[in-house]
Amino acid sequence: MSKRDYYDVLGVSRDVDSQGLKSAYRKLAFKYHPDRNPNDKAAEERFKEAAEAYAVLADADKRARYNQFGHAGVSGAGASQGFDPTIFADFNDIFGGLGDMFGFGDGRRQGGPTQGADLRYDLDISLEDAAKETEATLQIPREESCERCGGSGAAPGSSPQSCPQCRGRGQVRYQQGFFTVARTCGQCRGAGKVITNPCDACGGHGRAARERKLTVKVPAGIDTGQRLRLQGEGEHGPRGGPAGDLYVVIHVQNHPVFHRDGSDLLCVIPVTYPTLVLGGTIPVPTLGNDEILTVPKSTQSDTRFRIRGKGLPHVTGRGRGDLFVDVKVAVPKSVSQEQKSIIEKLDKTMPKRAFEPHERRDTGEADTRPFFERVKDIFG
Ligand SMILES: [Zn+2]
Ligand SMILES: [Zn+2]
Repeated sequence: MSKRDYYDVLGVSRDVDSQGLKSAYRKLAFKYHPDRNPNDKAAEERFKEAAEAYAVLADADKRARYNQFGHAGVSGAGASQGFDPTIFADFNDIFGGLGDMFGFGDGRRQGGPTQGADLRYDLDISLEDAAKETEATLQIPREESCERCGGSGAAPGSSPQSCPQCRGRGQVRYQQGFFTVARTCGQCRGAGKVITNPCDACGGHGRAARERKLTVKVPAGIDTGQRLRLQGEGEHGPRGGPAGDLYVVIHVQNHPVFHRDGSDLLCVIPVTYPTLVLGGTIPVPTLGNDEILTVPKSTQSDTRFRIRGKGLPHVTGRGRGDLFVDVKVAVPKSVSQEQKSIIEKLDKTMPKRAFEPHERRDTGEADTRPFFERVKDIFG
């Protein structure tokens, strides 16, 4: 493994200015900072590599020697120690003391097992189910700790051994020219431990795919896009680490009768012409029992009625929305002979064309007012 070119390490061109250098280093330092990558030897190496490259290239003198002689030109400049003390000064300068804001030094536990992944489950429920508290049974495929070995990956009765290659350190060091270079141990992949006698249930992985049945309580009034968090029901962490969470994302299906608007419901009910003209009562569906709606006489088509408290429960648990009913005149597709003659009789009593000249109702003289006023006079 030969030492990488400093410009390549920082991903900058050879004529980069100090500002570009700083911003390239800042990005890498954020990304690979050990506090943000606990136990990740590879990230640590990248962090040190970037720091070393920046220490040389940010110093005009060292940069000139590096440009001319390569790594050999700066090998005596303290760059081989990984952390030149000046780098900490540079680091502070670059981050302006805002390190905490970016999660540096947040006291995250080092060396512990990592947490399992969060899972997402999309749950379809009917509008009827959304109106009341329900229980849903979910079938969740997830990685769980192996029951046989308790997640260690080692066969029962045995345990993971200290890695012989790195003697448990997780990394191996070797001499590379003037430098001592550390690299993640290939045998244990940085874990420091190897399984010599793997568990035959999980093949040494410590986890196995399982299909788990879970019951989840879905609160009344839930709406599409809302999610329920089931703590600790995600994937189990590798090597016995804590489990992630399960997020159940709700999708409320469309309903053939009701349209939903938050906690309110809306439906369109066809009503006969005689009922609209003379008034009457009609049954109206709700998510529970039917309601009786009183239609006053001379009700126009598309009039909206509100039935309070017959919508969905508020998901907060207090009160319910309303049900809105739009009445629409129902025109029959076919009529009987008798109905036909009655309608014809009715028709003869009614003005035909509102826009044609006719006599005013009040004065009996020719109506010459504009169209909409004439219409009002006839149908109003
Ligand atoms: Zn196992
Ligand atoms: Zn090792």
